[in-house]
Amino acid sequence: MPLLEFTNKGIYCEQAQVFIDPWRPVQKALITHGHSDHATSGHRQYIASALSVPIIKYRLGSHIQIQGYPYGETFFINGVKFSFHPAGHIVGSAQIRVEYKGEVWVASGDYKRANDGLSTPFEVIKCHTFITESTFGLPAFTWKSQQEIISEINDWWQKNKDEGKISVIGAYALGKAQRIINNVDGSIGRISHMAR
Ligand SMILES: [Zn+2]
Repeated sequence: MPLLEFTNKGIYCEQAQVFIDPWRPVQKALITHGHSDHATSGHRQYIASALSVPIIKYRLGSHIQIQGYPYGETFFINGVKFSFHPAGHIVGSAQIRVEYKGEVWVASGDYKRANDGLSTPFEVIKCHTFITESTFGLPAFTWKSQQEIISEINDWWQKNKDEGKISVIGAYALGKAQRIINNVDGSIGRISHMAR
């Protein structure tokens, strides 16, 4: 029996009877991060990294039953040892390390290896089996470095400002928006943000 397996509800650990990022309601859900394709509603109990707890509550409602663990802190469910480790994707995002009888699996969730200056940087964890989410890591996608993109934004902002124009950037509300605000050059002008 593999330590983790794919089911029609999500990644499942049968020994601990917990799911990782399940998309159908379950008893016990370990959540990698607050994005809505990973933190879904309807589970009886949620377990997440401590930094993710306020985000998940904000998005799913403060009524949910949720427990948080700091990065690196271990906890046991039916003899299986779990811990959350930084995934570098958004604030609070975590890889989930699962250990049972000396065998170690890691489920990455969404992750980013470049340091965005905001999320706790990605940590490499030794394991026997690594389950990776890598939609945008496919060779078809090539990205400019964050530094390049930010300096392009700054140049564009400066140019607009010189011409007396206001610059508006649309960015996804959880993750991208904070990264942009955190990284652009605030000395160019005033930053206001509004949420829909
Ligand atoms: Zn995500």
